[in-house]
Amino acid sequence: MHPTLPKLVETDFPAIRRDKLDTLQVNLGYLCNLSCLHCHVNAGPKRKELMTRATIDQLFEFIDQQGITTLDLTGGAPEMNPHFKYTVSQAVQRGIRIIDRCNLVILEEPGYEDLVGFLATHQVQIVASLPCYSSDNVDAQRGDGVFDKSISALQKLNAVDYGKELDLRLVYNPQDATLPAPQARLEQEYKEHLFAHFGVVFTQLLTITNMPIQRFGSTLISKGLFDHYMQVLKAAYQQVNLEHLMCKSMLSVDWQGFLYDCDFNQMLDLPVGLSSKKKHISDCLQTDFNQQAITIADHCYGCAAGSGSSCSGALT
Ligand code: SF4
Ligand code: SF4
Repeated sequence: MHPTLPKLVETDFPAIRRDKLDTLQVNLGYLCNLSCLHCHVNAGPKRKELMTRATIDQLFEFIDQQGITTLDLTGGAPEMNPHFKYTVSQAVQRGIRIIDRCNLVILEEPGYEDLVGFLATHQVQIVASLPCYSSDNVDAQRGDGVFDKSISALQKLNAVDYGKELDLRLVYNPQDATLPAPQARLEQEYKEHLFAHFGVVFTQLLTITNMPIQRFGSTLISKGLFDHYMQVLKAAYQQVNLEHLMCKSMLSVDWQGFLYDCDFNQMLDLPVGLSSKKKHISDCLQTDFNQQAITIADHCYGCAAGSGSSCSGALT
């Protein structure tokens, strides 16, 4: 049972507005083959919430109307949604850039043997979590055996040109209540270690700050570190990061088709654009999201602290 998280809604974080909407991050459901400690969506093998085919079709109507150019698929393990391949094919037909936020281990699970080939054929960009390049740390955060399976999956991806011609990015997040180390330095260390020990290559490392919400927030509370972590984030606030926040160009969609300013706001149930109630994609086909005010709360300091953080890594 998770301890109750403090309300993060009252905040002194500065007001922000969206610039130009070009990216849709879509949560295809909370079903996942793993149950990681840092997971901000509390995903796991027992979750039943999955986006339906009808909602996916509404999603593409929204994409067409809004001129979305990047579709960022997340979960859970997005590949476990039974309509994952349909979604990718629909995006490919439209010439949209597709990102699959992949936990790597799914590529090793029975029933998913053809997934590596499918992703390569459709030139899907892979963003894959590997919170450390040593097995002890990864297994502690993500579960026993996860590191070895992740390496095996990376080798399979390399064999079909991922990390070479095809884009393969790895995601690092800290194990504890600290900010990530500088992205460029960590990337160099990851590249040297993974190539020397496993012959693995990848395109880029993305460092992501842990958000003080959901499972990681609960872990902080149970260790008595929640207030300390918020102080760490606030003390490291950098105004320059405001210009590059991911919510300036994207919207997040939950498994039922409701809209949020970002994935974190989705997890906190904070509706898009300071609205008092949730808005569905099917009701927002003609809405102009450019210059719309963004719903902010204290967790936004997680995006603006230090070098900044987003689903595309450090901001500055
Ligand atoms: S793999 Fe990702 S979605 Fe699944 S439990 Fe871990 S962090 Fe959550
Ligand atoms: S959590 Fe980050 S991405 Fe989400 S609204 Fe706040 S600043 Fe923007």
